Amino acid sequence: MANDTKLKVTFCSGAGTVTGANFLIEGNGKKFLVDCGLIQGEKIAEDLNWEEFTYDASTIDILFITHGHIDHIGRIPKLIHEGFNGKIISTIPTKEITEIMLADTAHLLAKDEEHNLAEIYSPENIKKALDLWETIEYGQKLNVDHGFQFTYRDSGHILGSGILEIIYNNKKIVFTGDLGNSPSPLLRNTEKITGVDYLFMESVYGDRNHEDRDDRKKRLAEVINQNYERKGTLMIPVFSLERTQELLYEIDTLVEANLIPKMPIFLDSPLAIKLTAVYKKYEKYFNPTALKIIKGGDDIFNFIGLKMTESTDESKAILNVPDPKIVMAGSGMSNGGRILHHEKNYLPYANNTILLIGYQAVGTLGRTIENGTKKIRIMNEDVHIRSHIEKISGYSGHKDSDHLVEFVNDTASTVKKVYLLMGEPKSSMFLAQKLRDNLNVDAYTPNTGESIEIEC
Ligand SMILES: [Zn+2]
Repeated sequence: MANDTKLKVTFCSGAGTVTGANFLIEGNGKKFLVDCGLIQGEKIAEDLNWEEFTYDASTIDILFITHGHIDHIGRIPKLIHEGFNGKIISTIPTKEITEIMLADTAHLLAKDEEHNLAEIYSPENIKKALDLWETIEYGQKLNVDHGFQFTYRDSGHILGSGILEIIYNNKKIVFTGDLGNSPSPLLRNTEKITGVDYLFMESVYGDRNHEDRDDRKKRLAEVINQNYERKGTLMIPVFSLERTQELLYEIDTLVEANLIPKMPIFLDSPLAIKLTAVYKKYEKYFNPTALKIIKGGDDIFNFIGLKMTESTDESKAILNVPDPKIVMAGSGMSNGGRILHHEKNYLPYANNTILLIGYQAVGTLGRTIENGTKKIRIMNEDVHIRSHIEKISGYSGHKDSDHLVEFVNDTASTVKKVYLLMGEPKSSMFLAQKLRDNLNVDAYTPNTGESIEIEC
């Protein structure tokens, strides 16, 4: 019997918005999902997450996960809760990262009694998800009955991140997940994707280019040295996944090259410590330069002065360690986590520094600090900000507008249509126009809830 010549794709969420990736592919008697992420805004989980899925979870054959960020994996326990009993497929590191990230998120969400989240994010549901989970290597072909073949390509976004390639009726359908800001210090470059018929891609930075990042390590050394000379504490709010490991690696190279003086450096985040161990375990996925340094005998996530403080007591004891010193702690936007304690202790003094290296969303404490507010509230206390505030951009984990166009250019001669997802409407629409103008490809920005059909 001939295969269906049409596949239906539904943008269940994650279209017209950055977070909550969840896409449904239906055809030839099969149903597949790509990602099942949390919808995030000012809150770690918006109320929209707790509405029922628009599909019957028990009828899904396979959930494919592109990578372990919570806006791509965060609703897996909810999918299980609604009866999903299919397979989950990802690369090997993504499974391990997900296990850690889900446990951390479950811990936070379980406090929400209004939506009964303790029941959804139960250890049983998480365990069931991991039991249903199978892993494949990059480049490995997974054949599924009814004529589908799936392969992951390295997207260079975080450890384990994959672009999902689907072959069906000799057509190539690609879901990019998030695309890395290559070259990354640690990861391999995004693989070139060619011969694509239908491309479903991210567009977070569709309308913006990143600042030149060539001198970010030089700036990092500068900020560290200035803080050292002032005999202060340098606070760095960090995201636990990828950003922390990049930063550790960059500080490691600065220490090894004697570009910064020796001083106590704390990684004060249990989540980041766990994730760093996963990075260390899967060094084989790093880029050739990082591999060469590792083969030369350097432990790139460890250097003289580094202390990983896992327990609360160890964290509290940092206050007694004489300056100068560096403290890296989560969360990256100061909307929770141990960084708040350090900010309360160190922001009031002029010899200290806070270094912001990531995007600070509107409504977060990080954004308020970035804006130069002189007085803030932390844990019901007024905190006067007298410390130095420094910023280094260029640490983004996403391709910028020009590089997204370059990515599409590799397959512009074959692609029938590009669907722009995971971006604010302004960003996705700008990129769509740019793709039409520069590459003469058909580009479309769907809305959440919309379904489309592709001819295969
Ligand atoms: Zn991501």
